[in-house]
Amino acid sequence: MLPYGRQSIDEGDIEAVADVLRGDWLTTGPAVGAFERALEGWAGAPCVSVTSGTAALHTAYAAAGIGPGDEVVTSPMTFVATASTAAMLGARIVFADIDEESVNLDPAAAEAATTARTRVIAAVDYAGRPADHPALREVADRAGALLMADAAHSLGSTLGGRPVGSLADVTTFSFFPTKNATTGEGGAVASTSPALLERARRFRCIGLVRDPAEQRYPDEGGWHQEVHEFGLNYRLPDLLCALGTRQLGRLADFKARRAALVARYGELLAGVPGLRLPAAARGADPMWHLYAVRILDGRRREVFDRMRAAGIGVQVNYIPVHWHPVFADLGYRRGLCPRAEAFYAEQLSLPLYPGLSRSDQDRVCDALLGILG
Ligand SMILES: *Cc1c(COP(=O)(O)O)cnc(C)c1O
Repeated sequence: MLPYGRQSIDEGDIEAVADVLRGDWLTTGPAVGAFERALEGWAGAPCVSVTSGTAALHTAYAAAGIGPGDEVVTSPMTFVATASTAAMLGARIVFADIDEESVNLDPAAAEAATTARTRVIAAVDYAGRPADHPALREVADRAGALLMADAAHSLGSTLGGRPVGSLADVTTFSFFPTKNATTGEGGAVASTSPALLERARRFRCIGLVRDPAEQRYPDEGGWHQEVHEFGLNYRLPDLLCALGTRQLGRLADFKARRAALVARYGELLAGVPGLRLPAAARGADPMWHLYAVRILDGRRREVFDRMRAAGIGVQVNYIPVHWHPVFADLGYRRGLCPRAEAFYAEQLSLPLYPGLSRSDQDRVCDALLGILG
């Protein structure tokens, strides 16, 4: 089965991990800071690494101080973790609809969803295209809320020349194997706020306070560390950070490769009836994570099944988050975000990853044309 996404690992990646295994530090060592600095080079803001994109979201919301009584406005066209991690902290999730062309959170819908309790506007850079951050910034400012970006798809993208990671107050990344760069499992929080990033750093390490200057009982002894607020162990080990640094060194190549594949899909599939291709990313230089087409005429499920039967691992990204039973049981109803729901009904992700060969891509297109033609 041709996957819809997969990692690209070379001998240098393997060597980087092996080097860590031969050294002194499997975790909490120098490879962690090296990775965070390399990531800052792409994100344009300082970063804290964590164990997954989900952990990054949890850490970001916790560092933002989200809790019961707070509201988080977000898009339903995302992976469930964008919303569930805030819900687990006690926040109420307010879903606002997408812009139909960009598939990203519609600033007008987000604005309409804000209340006096809105603490975070959480954008999602769907498929790698940055959300309309300048407009969302204004919405967040008017609401007195923090602007967050779930950039699990968009590491390496820029908007108006500014890198994803520096556009929102706090940005989260994922390094799952299908994403733009991988550490196996992994994630990171970037923030333009030093205070917020410090809280994130503490949260990912159980909440431990090690600096005597900040301790309540600094004279306890040289061994002493203390906890002021609860946290978790979300530390990304050196083994995975070393892989991450290597991957970031290859990210420009990955981006070029993904761009070439997206351009070629556009040529091979132009004008096919029953198929709508993704719009160009205006004002942005995206690192495309997904090639998300729309299958018209109610044929998405049939096309999905027939592509899978042909050995092509197409995917659907995503079931609207409020449709998940956990949100349905909280009273969220279908029909809440009609544009996102209409998009979901037609969405199909075609294989896209740096190692996808021209002949594989031809196979994908031939199969799709055979079904739609
Ligand atoms: C992958 C993904 C996540 C979660 O990342 P993990 O590393 O798998 O935990 C969150 N949000 C979006 C949009 C994602 O694509």
